[in-house]
Amino acid sequence: MADWKLPRDGGCRCGQVRIRVDAPPLLTMACHCDGCRRMSSSAFSLSAAIPSEGFHVTQGELVIGGLHGATRHYFCGRCLTWMFTRPEGMDMFVNLRPTMLDDAEGFAAPFIETYTSTKLPWASTAAIHSFETFPPFEAYEGLVRDFATRTALSSGGNHQPGSQT
Ligand SMILES: [Zn+2]
Ligand SMILES: [Zn+2]
Repeated sequence: MADWKLPRDGGCRCGQVRIRVDAPPLLTMACHCDGCRRMSSSAFSLSAAIPSEGFHVTQGELVIGGLHGATRHYFCGRCLTWMFTRPEGMDMFVNLRPTMLDDAEGFAAPFIETYTSTKLPWASTAAIHSFETFPPFEAYEGLVRDFATRTALSSGGNHQPGSQT
C-alpha cells in the first residue's frame, strides 16, 4: 500500500486559511485551458481531486472568485490565493490546488492532463494520459481506477510517470 502520509495540512500564501486533507486523492490533473492559465497565472493549473469527506478548512475565511458561477472557485479572502474548486454538480470531491499543501509530494504530479489543444507550445507535464479537452465523463471511472492501481504499486504515494512499459 502507498503511504500517503495523512493527514496533511496546508494553507494559502498569507497563512490566514488553513486546510487539512485526510484522504488520498482520487486523481491528479494538470489543465492547460485558458481559464486555468489565467486564474493560476501560469502555463497550467494543478488539481488533486480529494473526496469531500476527506477535505477540511480548519481556519480562515474564504471568498468566491473566478467566474462566480455554478462551479465555485475558493480563494483566501486576504491574499486571494486560488486554493480549491467545487465543480458544478460534483459534490463528492473537491479539486484542491495541491501546491497549497505544506508537503505536496505525491499530490502534485499530474496523472492526467486536459486541454492540450490550447496548451502553450513549450508546456509539458509528466501526465500519463493526455486529452485535447476534458475526458468524456464515462472515462473518469477507469482513470480513477488506473490512478489507484499505479499509486498502490509505488511507495510514498508517488506514481512514477514514464516508468510504465
Ligand atoms: Zn491567504
Ligand atoms: Zn482548466
